[in-house]
Amino acid sequence: MQTYRNTVNGTLAEPASSYEIFNPANGQSLGMAPESDEQEVDRAVQSAMLAQKSWAKHSDQERRDIIHKVAQILGENSEYLAELITREQGKPLSGPGSRFEMQACVGWTQVPASLELPPEVVYEDDERKDTLHRVPLGVVAAIAPWNWPLMIAIWQIIPAIRMGNTVVLKPSEYTPIATLEMVRLINQALPAGVLNTVTGDGTIGSKLTHHPDISKIMFTGSETTGRRIIEASAKSLSPITLELGGNDAAIVMPGTNIKNIATDLFWGAFLNMGQTCACIKRLYVHEDDYEAVMTELSAIANEMKIGDGMDESVLIGPLQNKMQFEKVRELVSDAQTSGCDVREFGEVPEQGYFMPLTLVGDIKDGHRLVDEEQFGPALPIIRYRDLEDAIESANRLDAGLGASLWTNTPADASELATQLEAGTVWINQHGAIHPMVPFGGNKASGYGVEFGVEGLKAVTQSRVISMKK
Ligand code: NDP
Repeated sequence: MQTYRNTVNGTLAEPASSYEIFNPANGQSLGMAPESDEQEVDRAVQSAMLAQKSWAKHSDQERRDIIHKVAQILGENSEYLAELITREQGKPLSGPGSRFEMQACVGWTQVPASLELPPEVVYEDDERKDTLHRVPLGVVAAIAPWNWPLMIAIWQIIPAIRMGNTVVLKPSEYTPIATLEMVRLINQALPAGVLNTVTGDGTIGSKLTHHPDISKIMFTGSETTGRRIIEASAKSLSPITLELGGNDAAIVMPGTNIKNIATDLFWGAFLNMGQTCACIKRLYVHEDDYEAVMTELSAIANEMKIGDGMDESVLIGPLQNKMQFEKVRELVSDAQTSGCDVREFGEVPEQGYFMPLTLVGDIKDGHRLVDEEQFGPALPIIRYRDLEDAIESANRLDAGLGASLWTNTPADASELATQLEAGTVWINQHGAIHPMVPFGGNKASGYGVEFGVEGLKAVTQSRVISMKK
C-alpha cells in the first residue's frame, strides 16, 4: 500500500506515523497518509522561515516566472490529480467536478502571477513624497478544508508566495492525499522550503496556528474552528484571512421565467453535492412561482446520475465523510418529522456516503434545515409573499458569505442587491467566483478577502517610505 509523504524543505519527509484514507464512494483504501508530530510542525516552519529570506530577495518578475511554471506543472498533471481528487474527495471527474477543480487550480495560479502591485505614491507636495510599498509578512500558515481541497489550497498558497512569503500548508485530515501529491509536484518548480506541508487532525492545525513564527493565517472551514484560530493568533499577533462558509440565500423575484434560470439555480445549490461554502442553501420563491420552481428543479434532479465519480456519466458523487453524511441526513430527517414536503431524486448506490438529491418544500424560517448550514444536497425552498419579507429573511441569520437575486431584468436588480447582507451578491448566478474579483464574507462568514489585487494585499504588510525633499 502506498504511503504518501509530506514535503518539508523540498524533500519528502519520512512520516512518524500514518493513517489509512478511504474512498467515500466505495470504502476502498486509497493508501496511507502521514501524520505529523510537533517536531515536524517545527521543522516545516523553520524551513519556511529560512527559505523566506532568500525567496523575498527574488525579483517580482522571477517569482512570477516561477509561479507560471507551477501553473504549467498543474496543467500537465491535471488528469492524475483530478482522479486522485475524485477517489479521495468524491466529486465526479465530469461536470463541475474534479477536472473543473483542476482547471480552477491552473487559473487561480496564472492570475495572481499576472497581476501588478507596484509601490504607490500616496502623497506628494513640494516638501515631501510618501510611497506605500507592499512587503511580505513571512511564513503563512494555510489551513485548508476537504470540500475543494486543491483549489482552496491554491487560493491560499499562490498569492502568498507571489508576494514573497513562504507557506506551511495543512490539508484537512479527510483529504490529504491529492493535496500532498500536488505539493510534491509543484515543488519541482519552487526553491526548497517555499512550500511545505504538515498533516494530521485539528491538533496539528492548532500547533501550526499557535506557532510563534507564523506571520499570517489563511483559514477556510467552520465558524467554530475559525474562532479557535482567532484565539491562536493572539500569541503571534498574526493577521488572519477567515473564510467560514455561510448559509447563502437566493431570492427568485416575482414573475421570473423559471425555465430560464432552473439549471443555474440547480448547480448553484448542488455544486459538489452542496458541499461548497458559497452554494445556495436557502431558496426563497414567490408563492405564485413556487410550483414552477419545484417542477423545474425536480425535472433536472431526476436527470442526474448519482454514483462513483470515476464513471464519466456520473454528475453527482457521495458526500465526503461520515460526519457530513450524518449531519445532512439528520437535518432532512428533522424537516420530515416537522411535516415538511421532502422530495428525493436519483438512484442511490447502497455502499458509500451517497444521498439522493433532496428538495424540501412547505418549510419555513426557523426550521433547522433553513437556519443551520446543511453543506449537502438538501435544498429548502421557502415561499414568500412580499419581496421585502424575503430580503428580511435572507438577512436574518448571522452568516453573510454570498446571496443572489434571480430576475428577468438583471439591470434593475442592482439597487435591491445592495440590501442583501453578504460579501458577494450575485444577480442571475450564484457562487460565480472569479480570480480577479475579491471574495470574502460579511458578518459571521469571516473577514478579509481573497483573489485579485485585494487578495495580494492581504498577504503583505505595508511599508511607507516617507521622504523630505
Ligand atoms: P473544520 O473547520 O473543523 O476544518 C477545516 C480545517 O481546519 C481542517 O483542515 C481542520 O483539520 C482544521 N482544524 C480543525 N481544528 C483546528 C484547530 N483547532 N486549529 C487549526 N486548524 C484546525 O471543519 P469540519 O471539517 O469539521 O466541517 C464542519 C463544518 O464546517 C461543515 O459541516 C461545514 O458546515 C463547514 N465547512 C465549511 C467549509 C468552507 O468551505 N467554508 C469547508 C469545510 C467545512 P482536520 O480536518 O484535519 O480536523
